Amino acid sequence: MDNKYLAQLLFPDVTKTPEEIEAMYPERDLAEGVAVSRHAPSPTGFVHLGNVVQSLISERLCHQSGGILYLRIEDTDSKREVKGATESLINMLAYYGIKFDEGVTLDGDKGAYGPYTQSKRRDIYRVYAKKMVEDGNAYPCFCTKEELEAIREEQEKEKVSYGYYGKWAVWRDRPIEDIEAALKAGKPWVLRLRSTGSIENKFKYNDLIKGEINVTENDVDFVIIKSDGIPPYHFAHPIDDHLMHTTHVVRGDEWLATLPLHLQLHKLLGFKPPKYAHIGALMKMDGSSKRKLSTRKDPELGLAFYKSQGYPRDSVREYVMTVLNSNFEDWRRANPDADIDEFKFSVKKLNPAGSLFDLGKLMDISKNVISKMTAEQVYEYTAEWANEFDKDFYDVFTADPDFSKAVLAIGRGGNKPRKDFGLWSEVKGYMGFMFDKYFSLECNYDEKFDRDSIKTVLEKFVESYDDGDEQQVWFDKIKAIASSIGYAADMKEYKANPDAFKGSVADVSMFLRLAVTGKLNSPDMYSVMKILGRDRVNERIKAMEERL
Ligand code: GLU
Repeated sequence: MDNKYLAQLLFPDVTKTPEEIEAMYPERDLAEGVAVSRHAPSPTGFVHLGNVVQSLISERLCHQSGGILYLRIEDTDSKREVKGATESLINMLAYYGIKFDEGVTLDGDKGAYGPYTQSKRRDIYRVYAKKMVEDGNAYPCFCTKEELEAIREEQEKEKVSYGYYGKWAVWRDRPIEDIEAALKAGKPWVLRLRSTGSIENKFKYNDLIKGEINVTENDVDFVIIKSDGIPPYHFAHPIDDHLMHTTHVVRGDEWLATLPLHLQLHKLLGFKPPKYAHIGALMKMDGSSKRKLSTRKDPELGLAFYKSQGYPRDSVREYVMTVLNSNFEDWRRANPDADIDEFKFSVKKLNPAGSLFDLGKLMDISKNVISKMTAEQVYEYTAEWANEFDKDFYDVFTADPDFSKAVLAIGRGGNKPRKDFGLWSEVKGYMGFMFDKYFSLECNYDEKFDRDSIKTVLEKFVESYDDGDEQQVWFDKIKAIASSIGYAADMKEYKANPDAFKGSVADVSMFLRLAVTGKLNSPDMYSVMKILGRDRVNERIKAMEERL
């Protein structure tokens, strides 16, 4: 077969040579050992946790070594593409703080190695496809869907593996006349790799995460250009990563099965393959067993979940790091205030079998992250979240920013800050009672307290409350009220001899707390009352008296 003739027959429109393309993508001017990596998602409309995990690993590899991270959009599968998906991907990755140096942005491409969207690279792929034919490494296949199905059925009967290989590769050695006739008849065709591999041949490969793995050569004549003239991932990947000078590919381990094909294609195209890091699936505990997080069953796989629930972006980042590198938590304990990027991330520490995700743990981290923020920051983030997800609360919360910030400042700062909430969506539950609109009685007094004592406490408090009082004066007044109704003013005395009292000053405080906040737990009462102001405090206490 005259390969040059066949290549011209199949790709008459392709006039450029690989050398001309290569000249457009010169070597990057970077020092030895510097990583260039990319995040290369497909715009399917679903941005998942894996996107943050993968891009964060790539980001650390690049930025820790002084290298380049770029964003490439892999949209060669038009059936899976969803309108607006690229924009939401870009926005979501930016929201989680992944900083790209190059690639697709909302304002078009940035960088000298584009276009960074695969559908815009059709002509480039076809230059290499033509070369593959010229070199005898690819051939056209005119099989219809029905013919491929028949092959599959036959393979099922013979109990051999599926695929287009060996004797099943029916167009592999067809004479040129058959190809010409099929082209003339206008039959659709795909371009297939002429695989030279054999499943008898095994070799060892060193994956950055999996370590040394055993690989079997590929013997399948995979499609490298589809009937629409566009390559599938398998062919676009080596070409793009070669031209864009990627040194590290971080991707899901669902691609391990086709790693032999990718290595084979790099070789046939004359490219040096990048280093691969295949990440295990994200897992969760389901009862007592581990399973993969699933798009269908687990909303927490989608990044939109974290955003809408109000997980702070910093918590998600901290949590992902905790999961990826087991020494991160110790580092964080030793460096509580350090920037997360100062942590020395290591790809070698990743669990090859996949990382376990646990929303409970994320919540603990999140409470910790929020507890270290200033009231101002908590206010800004909560307002940003509520503006998108809880408009009603947003209006109330932002009507008087100083008021809201004052409430958020209670118990903040110092070396033992409160850890009341881990989500922006929990702020409403935490401090909603401060606004008359959301104030309600969430609990009631325990039956064991006689109603007259409670009433007396409430009455006496209103009589004596002065919002100009210092905290100690305020509390001394509460103690005095406690003593006046036979409750212990001193907790030590009470604990030593509980039967001598009807209750304690803690109970008396609780009577007031419930009346003022509607809850049994609340931020510091002295501060709450001061911020609410005398009139509102007295109003609520009187309303409670009337209810009793
Ligand atoms: N588009 C592929 C995916 O979304 C990218 C895999 C890779 O990073 O090479 O899985």
